[in-house]
Amino acid sequence: MSSGHERCPICSDWAWMERHRCAPIWLVLDPEQSGEWEDAVKVYATDPEQAAEKWAQDEDVESGEYSIVGGTDMAVQVRRLDEPDAAPVWWVVTGESIPTYRASEAWRVQCNRCREYEDLTPERIGQQHEACRYEGSRWEAA
Ligand SMILES: [Zn+2]
Ligand SMILES: [Zn+2]
Repeated sequence: MSSGHERCPICSDWAWMERHRCAPIWLVLDPEQSGEWEDAVKVYATDPEQAAEKWAQDEDVESGEYSIVGGTDMAVQVRRLDEPDAAPVWWVVTGESIPTYRASEAWRVQCNRCREYEDLTPERIGQQHEACRYEGSRWEAA
């Protein structure tokens, strides 16, 4: 049974399919890859801004380099597929990676060699005490 909220097979947006209409198609051209509009990437988006953003996300994922999210701005040209005579508009896409933090309950551990204590995550138990002045050190549950 279908809930009706599905991924559109055409534009790949998640949508209530009964009422869904695909967003218009935009062409996004990266001049560093090609100067030809035939090589532009087709993106379904509600506006050119979203088209440039979606392109940036796909570009980062496809290249596997995540350079945009890593701070390298890119300038691209965007225009609607169904408006071939309209002048393309330049958009600069920028990204940032959001630092994530995670808290887990600390374990009191003790180095088996220098007897120093520290509060660490339990995964560290059995691992080396890196700053230890002795050989063969490892953290043990205290
Ligand atoms: Zn669609
Ligand atoms: Zn130690």
